[in-house]
Amino acid sequence: MSQVYNWQLGRTMEYPHAEHHPDRQFAFVFNLNRCIGCQTCTMACKSTWTFSKGQEYMWWNNVETKPYGGYPQNWDTKLLGLLEDVNPGGQNWNGASFEGMTVFEAAQKKIGPEPQRALGYLPTDEEWRFPNIYEDTPAGPKGVSEAYDKEGAQLPAHKTWFFYLARICNHCTYPACLAACPRNAIYKRPEDGVVLVDQTRCRGYRKCVEACPYKKAMYRSSTRVTEKCIACYPRLEGKDPETQGLPMETRCMAACIGQIRLQGLVRIDKDGQWAQDRYNPLYYLVKVAKVALPLYPQFGTEPNGYYIPPRWVPRGFLKQMFGPGVDHAIDSYMVPDRELLAVQQLFRKSNRIIFSYRIEEGEKVFETQIHGKPFTLYNDTVIGLDEKGREIVRTQVEEPFYVRPDKHQNSI
Ligand code: SF4
Ligand code: SF4
Repeated sequence: MSQVYNWQLGRTMEYPHAEHHPDRQFAFVFNLNRCIGCQTCTMACKSTWTFSKGQEYMWWNNVETKPYGGYPQNWDTKLLGLLEDVNPGGQNWNGASFEGMTVFEAAQKKIGPEPQRALGYLPTDEEWRFPNIYEDTPAGPKGVSEAYDKEGAQLPAHKTWFFYLARICNHCTYPACLAACPRNAIYKRPEDGVVLVDQTRCRGYRKCVEACPYKKAMYRSSTRVTEKCIACYPRLEGKDPETQGLPMETRCMAACIGQIRLQGLVRIDKDGQWAQDRYNPLYYLVKVAKVALPLYPQFGTEPNGYYIPPRWVPRGFLKQMFGPGVDHAIDSYMVPDRELLAVQQLFRKSNRIIFSYRIEEGEKVFETQIHGKPFTLYNDTVIGLDEKGREIVRTQVEEPFYVRPDKHQNSI
């Protein structure tokens, strides 16, 4: 058992494994305001890694419709319920500090038939059956089924709402899958923090499947070992023929039609905290602008996936899912300052990993008010740089307007 600092909880916590930190950490930001649920990411992953026998049910990347969808079904509400049973009424935040119990702390309190290192459960076969159950099913007026609210869709929160939640393994800082494995078959790579299962050590006990709060470790019955998202590590290593040796984003990121995804590698200090890196776009979005938030931080694994929350969804729901930073994140996103607007343009402008950015100021385009707050749009240019500081992408806040030549009726 180690005492570790979890910055997402604002406190130290007990972690049932030795503490190790990588030099750099695989991390990503998904802007849920933009996801259109097209599942291109899902298919990009499936066709690359999980198209073989025994992998039929494996969707390392999935996109579920909240509030009702989930893969496996009800993965999050089930775990929230288990935590509530162990710590009734106590799963609360005090400002930015979490006062409740993580999956590791709750496991110490709940002594079941078999002790667990992280509170969890094994999903049933039925729960793995429908990767896209309740697709596009909204929450409507309370107590009335299959009806839209007559008040319609008005901010700050729609009365009838849903949103798409895209998920992959979070390559957690304190992985529950890794801590739970009795064979020490799971490890975190020192060079990029990617969490992998050593297929030769795994004996298929499925302790990782039980422990992962996000249910992203998956057992393969044809080989009797567990598999999981590998963060497309050959691409991170620059081994994809397309990369010319440069670290490249994963397949699911590169395929994203909605341009919701930005992935990178953040530098980690010796103490496990994110090293100051002001102009790394991920560092800026998560640590400076604080517009991107972790998924269920209260589970305690310090996930490295971050989400810009959808602005039309009731705040109570979002706060349970993304923690206490929701109001600030949505307020900043709705009325972005000059830098935030520029950095947002970097999403999906390159398949190579952007390690830093700089901004060249452009002319003022217009001024307006958004929800009573003044907003000015500048046509700044944002430049993304690779790890050696070389330019890999250049784009502007105002998208250039192209007019097709009036030559063919159908120019496609
Ligand atoms: S999301 Fe689950 S499988 Fe991935 S590193 Fe975290 S605990 Fe392990
Ligand atoms: S490809 Fe992008 S927009 Fe489409 S479902 Fe996946 S995350 Fe959403």
